[in-house]
Amino acid sequence: MTSDQSKFQFREPDFPPDLDPGEAELLLAFDIWIHEKHPNPEREGCPGRDRLEAVVRAKTKVEDQYTLDHIGLCAACLDEMKEIKRELTGR
Ligand SMILES: [Zn+2]
Repeated sequence: MTSDQSKFQFREPDFPPDLDPGEAELLLAFDIWIHEKHPNPEREGCPGRDRLEAVVRAKTKVEDQYTLDHIGLCAACLDEMKEIKRELTGR
């Protein structure tokens, strides 16, 4: 039901260079990687649930660059987005 992972563009300076964007395996690898490198338990700089939800709901290009960049640096937000996605799709 959800095949739109590619709309997220993670931009992160120390992102593993051997990975190409837009693949399921990549998202999985990214997931593991970000939890290791950027768990962000303090939720530092997190844009908040409303903005994360806006990114999840976006049908076209997301203009909220801050949030997009932040997601690429924050495992906590990534997890929250997954939760939001599950809620929106009715799991
Ligand atoms: Zn965050």
